[in-house]
Amino acid sequence: MSRSLRIKLVFIMLMLIVLLMTVVLVFLVRGVQGFFTDEFDVQMRQMFGESDVLVQELRLAVQSDDAVENMEGVLSVFEGQLGIDGITRNLYILDGSTAAVLSSSSGNPRVNVTENITAAMLQDDIAHIGSSGTDFMDIAVPITYPDSGARYIIYIIDNKHMAQSLSADIFTIIRDAVLIGAVISIAISLIISKTLLTPIEGMTKAAEAMADGDFSRKIVVESEDEIGILSKTFNDMASQIETMLEELKKAEQLRREFVANVSHELRTPLTSIRTYAETIFDTEEIGRETQDEFLRVIINESDRMTKIVQDLLELSRFDSGRSKLSVEEFSIEQSVRGVYTAIALEAKKRGHVLNLELEWKLPKIKGDRARIEQVLMNIIINALKYTPDGGLIDIYSGSADGSVWVKIEDTGVGIPEEDLPHVFDRFYRVDKARSRESGGTGLGLSIAKEIITLHGGDIQVESAYGKGTSVTIVLPIEGPVDD
Ligand code: ADP
Repeated sequence: MSRSLRIKLVFIMLMLIVLLMTVVLVFLVRGVQGFFTDEFDVQMRQMFGESDVLVQELRLAVQSDDAVENMEGVLSVFEGQLGIDGITRNLYILDGSTAAVLSSSSGNPRVNVTENITAAMLQDDIAHIGSSGTDFMDIAVPITYPDSGARYIIYIIDNKHMAQSLSADIFTIIRDAVLIGAVISIAISLIISKTLLTPIEGMTKAAEAMADGDFSRKIVVESEDEIGILSKTFNDMASQIETMLEELKKAEQLRREFVANVSHELRTPLTSIRTYAETIFDTEEIGRETQDEFLRVIINESDRMTKIVQDLLELSRFDSGRSKLSVEEFSIEQSVRGVYTAIALEAKKRGHVLNLELEWKLPKIKGDRARIEQVLMNIIINALKYTPDGGLIDIYSGSADGSVWVKIEDTGVGIPEEDLPHVFDRFYRVDKARSRESGGTGLGLSIAKEIITLHGGDIQVESAYGKGTSVTIVLPIEGPVDD
């Protein structure tokens, strides 16, 4: 591509030079031709004016018998002023009636009878000047002496060789100028094309590298001009695409992991169900008690699968933006108390101390009540699940800066520091066995985060491994902002 641009540039420069020089040539040649014609015209008019010495002298000379000789004598005096050189400009004395050559500076015995000669032959007293041909200019001046009937024509013809040789010189000069100009213009176009095309070639290479998946190649920005701006924009674009691709790769990686997790999570209960069902089926004399126990496992595993599928459906609704909140104004205090009451019995069974501490007159908030209660329940159940029997679980709630917050603290197993950033990841579980044992899917906190985020709120987990965990949610009183 760049090569053809280079050729185009050279071609344009050459065309410009040739065109320009041709125009100059035409003007110069026409100027030179015009100059010579005008000069001849002016010179002749000056010499052959009615009252000029030359004409007076010729009129006198024609009155004697040796008219031709006398006229030759007069004319020889003025030869220089008339520019007669015998080569390009010649002088003739012609017979006024026949145009026969009576005297010639060139030695030619005849002249072509031009328009001016004819005119001079017809009119006796007017000088006829003009460039009646393209390759000559002439003047025919009738000199008569009516008394004796003598009729002569002084005829000067210039073959324009001077102008032509000058034009030829000009042509040579212009031709040389075109040649030198062509060399210079080729050099200049090569330099220009180099400065213009080097970054473009760089861009082409970088784009080719990008097409092969290599985004590291950057163009060196050398100037601040349009090309420099283009190079910089190109580099920015490459960086953005690189970042986007990395994000896409990460997303793709997450998707793969997710699919692998889903398959694994679903296969585990399915395998159990099949194994237990087969055992019941294959064992002939299975005791009633064992059968009940196996059936219980089957029911539990089915429930687990149902829970996983439900959670996945919910997450997929969040992902596709199909999950809509049904926003209403409600008392967060009632919700917290409700969840507390619902869990109190279970906490007691496990020997936990469950405390509830609420700020006086908690404001009402706007939000999806059922969903927020689902989140609270999830967090409190986690506190119960991950705290060995006989622990302490505190629920606090208050308001500040247009928000309400709920904090659930436990004295349970805690979360190791390195796991903390991942607890909101889908299927992430610190202790798989414990989570599974207690019916966890590893999706609870991911769903909680989606719900809180949809409300424009925030959810944070702090934990000291082996000591306990605290989860805080913050919700705006005004509810989610519509977009
Ligand atoms: P799960 O269904 O496994 O409880 P969650 O998404 O609710 O899944 O939580 C993710 C993981 O975070 C849990 O598996 C557990 O390891 C950890 N976790 C959550 N809450 C607590 C807590 N209160 N104490 C200790 N670990 C917790």
